[in-house]
Parts: sequence; C-alpha cells; structure tokens
Amino acid sequence: MHYLDNSATTFVIKEAADVAYKVMTEAFGNPSSVHKMGIDAERILENSRKMISDALCVKKDEVFFTSGGTESINTALLGAAHKNSRLGKHIISSEVEHAATLNTLKELTSKGFEVTLLKPNVDGSINFDDFKKAYREDTILVSLMMINNETGAGFPINEIGAFLKNKKTVFHVDAVQGFLREKMNVSKMNVDLMSISGHKIGAPKGIGALYIKKGTKIPPFILGGGQEKGQRSGTEPLPNIAAFAEAVRIRNENFEEDFKKVQELRDYLEEKIIKNFDFAKINGKSSVPHVLNVSFLGCKSEVLLRVLGDKGVYVSAGSACSKGKKSHVLSAMGIESNVIDSAIRVSFSPYNKKEDIDAFIDGVKKGAAMLRR
Ligand code: PLP
Repeated sequence: MHYLDNSATTFVIKEAADVAYKVMTEAFGNPSSVHKMGIDAERILENSRKMISDALCVKKDEVFFTSGGTESINTALLGAAHKNSRLGKHIISSEVEHAATLNTLKELTSKGFEVTLLKPNVDGSINFDDFKKAYREDTILVSLMMINNETGAGFPINEIGAFLKNKKTVFHVDAVQGFLREKMNVSKMNVDLMSISGHKIGAPKGIGALYIKKGTKIPPFILGGGQEKGQRSGTEPLPNIAAFAEAVRIRNENFEEDFKKVQELRDYLEEKIIKNFDFAKINGKSSVPHVLNVSFLGCKSEVLLRVLGDKGVYVSAGSACSKGKKSHVLSAMGIESNVIDSAIRVSFSPYNKKEDIDAFIDGVKKGAAMLRR
C-alpha cells in the first residue's frame, strides 16, 4: 500500500493510539466526577491541553477541545459574526477556503452579513494588497486559511495579523493544514481564533481544538453541562484528547527532521515528474513541501485515480470533501478546465518512503500510456 493522501487524513501514530487505548481501558473516568477516577481524568485532560497549547505557543486556558476542524471553524465564524454584528456586518475571506468555512459564510450571508471573498493568484496565494483594498471600517471578521489543502499555498497571515492589530476586527485562521507543517508562534501572530484538527497530524478523527485568544468573546456553539469552561459542552472525549496531545508532542518534537524528510520526498517526486512526463503541469506554488498538485494532461483524474488505486497507490483529485466535483480552488486560480479535470493531489507524511513515489510514478506511466492513447 502506498498512501499519498495525507492531507485528506493520515494514520494514527502508534504512541497516540497506545495512549488512547490506555485512557479507554484504565483512566476512563469522567473529568467532571469528583472521585479519584474523575480527578485522574481531569489531570489527563489538563495535561493534554497544556501539551497542545505549548505547541501553539499560547496559554493553556486559551485552548478549547472540539470535535475537529469543522466544528472549530463553525464555532469561530458564527460566534464572532453574531457577537460583533452591532459593530458591522462585513466579513472578508477567500474563494479557496475549505467547505467548512465557505458553507458557514453562506449561512451568515443568508442572515444579512456581507461577505467579500478574495480571489487567489494563479499560484494559489492571496495578495496582501487585495486584502487591504477589501478591508472596510465595518469589517468585523476576517477568516483565512494558513495553508491551502489542495495546493499547499500559504497566505500572508502574519502581515494581515499585523495590519489588524489594535483594530476591532476578529481574525480567525484555519490552520488545519498549517499546524505542525509550518513552525508558528500563535501568541505573536495577532490572531484571535485558530482552528486545528487532530486527524491531519496522526491523532484519531473526531478531535480538534479552537484557540480563543484571551479577551475574545465567542458564544458557545454547543450547550449543555458547561464543560470546557462553558465554551463547549459534552463529556470530553478523553481518549481522543490524550491521543491528540501525544501526536502533537511527537510531531512537534520531530518537526525539523520530519520537514526535511518531506522536503526530500517532494524534491524527489518533482524531479521524477519533470524527467518522465512532458505532459505534466504543476498547479500553484506550495509554501510547504507536504502538498503537490499536478495535472497529467490528457488523463482524467478520476480514471487515473482508479488505475493508481488498482496498484495500491492512493492519492486524490482535490480535497476529500469535494468528491468528484470540479475543484473550486483550481477554478478560482483561473486554471483551464482541461488542466483541472486532470489534477491530482499528492500529499506526504514524514512516514512516506521513496518507494511510495516510485510506485506513484510507475502507476502514472502505465495509466498515461492507456489514457493518452
Ligand atoms: N480546513 C481545512 C483546510 C481542511 O483541509 C479540513 C479537512 O480537510 C478542514 C478544515 C476540516 O477539518 P475536519 O476534517 O477536522 O473537520
């Protein structure tokens, strides 16, 4: 099996799975219970929060657990928009955001908010000048991704953060693809809210977190027993939380080494593509090595994916949520239809090997020989 779809999701790191198992079978108390099992569970919960806040370089009580990136984004956008609606109704985001953002913004539009979506350049990034032009007195919320999930393009988050400093506008960053792929010190970024997700970095699915900078008021999205200081009710999924923290610890400790490994894999892949396929076109410009979007002209993505899948090579044609739909990201970048129709996203984890890339190249050679006949 050659799994090269790690931006869709990735396997759970063994150490993280072991921690989850131990919590499930031994430290299975409810963190709200007052007996020893409850107190032990609460200790695990707070240690986990500390491990994640350390990796983000923020304070422990600024991290709130959620069910994943989508819930964090919904909480951030709906909460910030409604909370600040008396100050204005204007929101800035981009055309290439994840569906979790775009569909939440659609909902806000139907409730009377006005959304400006920035257009990306052909390389997939956003111009700071375009952002400044779109910014208005009544802009109450800006939501942008750190790294695009389809192209790996990075956005000027630091510049925008600096511009918004001392302004009333709330700044949310979708760092689901950026967290632990790019080094960051969130406390220095002038970001008010940040969404992260566990299953992109070696933790199980169904766990994520929302960073809420001290002083930023976000109404709770889920009401109930008042867990997470009333910010997100529901008994905390402790096995997932502990596994998330462990995965974060491992990925953070190995960051430089892992980054280097992924860079080598990516360079190897690019070299092989250039050498073997004069009909290949790389889409966008990624700012981290983890994602490469490439079109093999004349080979429809879905068909090539099937050929590769038959050989045990797993990649995707875009984001996992867009299943078969034309990529809204590549379309927004102004890429021609035939190029979009043949786009493939290869996304690495530090655990991939050169053999995975060789298998991919071999599969594309065989597929292209058939499809381009
Ligand atoms: N934002 C981005 C950039 C993503 O890539 C994803 C997942 O693909 C999400 C948000 C949603 O995260 P989750 O799957 O944890 O709900």
